[in-house]
Amino acid sequence: MLMKPQEHILIIGAGLCGCLMALRLAQRGYTITLVEKRPDLRLSSIDAGRSINLALSDRGLKALSMAGLKEKALAISLPMGGRMIHQKEQTSFYSPYSGNPKNAINSISRPGLNALLLDALDAEQNVSLHFNAPCINLDLQTNTAGFKKDTSDKQSGDDAASFHITADVIFGCDGAGSVVRKTLEKIADFDFSLEWLSHGYKELSIAPGDDGDFQLRADALHIWPRGQDMIIALPNLDRSFTVTLFMGHQTQPYGFDHLTQPSQIHDYFKTQYPELLDLIPDLLDQYQNNPTGPLGTIKCGPWHWQGKAVIMGDAAHAIVPFYGQGMNASFEDVLVFDQLMDQGFDQWEDLLAAFSKKRKPDADAIANLALDNFYEMKEHTADAIFQKKRSIEVKLEQERPEAYQSKYSMVTFNPELSYHQAMTRGRAQDQAIVSLLKEHELSESLDLDQQLMLIKKRTHEILGSDQN
Ligand SMILES: Cc1cc2nc3c(=O)[nH]c(=O)nc-3n(C[C@H](O)[C@H](O)[C@H](O)COP(=O)(O)OP(=O)(O)OC[C@H]3O[C@@H](n4cnc5c(N)ncnc54)[C@H](O)[C@@H]3O)c2cc1C
Repeated sequence: MLMKPQEHILIIGAGLCGCLMALRLAQRGYTITLVEKRPDLRLSSIDAGRSINLALSDRGLKALSMAGLKEKALAISLPMGGRMIHQKEQTSFYSPYSGNPKNAINSISRPGLNALLLDALDAEQNVSLHFNAPCINLDLQTNTAGFKKDTSDKQSGDDAASFHITADVIFGCDGAGSVVRKTLEKIADFDFSLEWLSHGYKELSIAPGDDGDFQLRADALHIWPRGQDMIIALPNLDRSFTVTLFMGHQTQPYGFDHLTQPSQIHDYFKTQYPELLDLIPDLLDQYQNNPTGPLGTIKCGPWHWQGKAVIMGDAAHAIVPFYGQGMNASFEDVLVFDQLMDQGFDQWEDLLAAFSKKRKPDADAIANLALDNFYEMKEHTADAIFQKKRSIEVKLEQERPEAYQSKYSMVTFNPELSYHQAMTRGRAQDQAIVSLLKEHELSESLDLDQQLMLIKKRTHEILGSDQN
């Protein structure tokens, strides 16, 4: 079967990945049906407890650019050039993400970005969108998906309780709990693992101050690292901040499972995050009323079945959020898929297999990097070696941008490198700098080029020994 634009593609899940994939395939002329289990978020308020804002960076922007949406996305974002580290009982300090002042990650509203994508889909003739219709089953033999229609849905005026859609190819972009992936799981040679993190998350909010302005600097991602747990805050266009507390479920003395009484909650914040008690006057209410979400890593494969179904985005590789890359990786899936479409595949089967094969090592790499960053952010961002390492890296990126990029920059600001390349080089480089610092080899008395040479040499040795 030749891949023809008139073929009918069914995409399940109109979240970030599903919408961008739908848009790109529609732009290529395919006939698209996109089905979403939730209501149209442009017409109803979003669920509490789903992360409200996200850090959008270069990989995601590159994919949005392919669909003509980069500038529109940036117009509803706030750039964050670095981390503001709030240490316990010490002065806070700012640490740039990169030595290149142009590099920033961008705080963007999840519903705002999703709405931007849905609006772009509305403008395409060949897309049909359905909301309030969860996919409940999938028959891979006939390529038919079954949907349950929420009959209370006033938006569609459709009274049918259920319906089926048959398509040439089905894309599962239905997030971490993917029904499409669960169908693939029943196939004999499908590998699947889900590793829950010890920590969950809860979102809180810092309202604008009495003067209507931001209560913290708005060009930074704020972090309160506390070893066992941590809080981060990202700015919103309405001058509020979305605050996320990452805490163990069962950790003692502070964990979500036992931190339930008002006096305990108050004591916890007073001991660990006193600043936030002042910034969030209704913190207790927010803590008690906002849900706690779980965090986990899903690795699986192959992501496709014959030429008929494929999963992408969180459905294929849900990761913990500590590199701010889950959405970026999901958007990059679409970019990689799109680039493969230009390579002249005649059969969907070959294209889907090529996508799964090419992308899986990168998905595994960013999953591992995100777990590394969990420990780095909560434990190391405030420690002396980490700070020394960052200051050397920032200087090198400022003064020798052609010769040096930190691991963070390779992952976040260099979409030309794959996640896997960024992980391999970045980890070796980190190990090199930390070991040189611990051995007092990287001293201030050396000039920058000598420092660079030492780091490169040690990195090379580490990479060489890894390959043996
Ligand atoms: C606390 C937190 C913070 C995060 N911060 C960042 C960040 O800063 N930067 C970043 O890049 N990433 C971040 N992420 C990750 C990011 O949210 C995800 O990677 C991204 O949302 C994945 O997009 P997706 O479209 O694959 O999945 P989802 O966003 O989960 O979308 C899936 C869609 O499918 C729909 N759906 C589900 N089941 C069905 C069904 N059966 N039938 C029909 N529709 C269905 C859902 O309703 C949803 O609309 C964060 C995640 C969390 C939890």
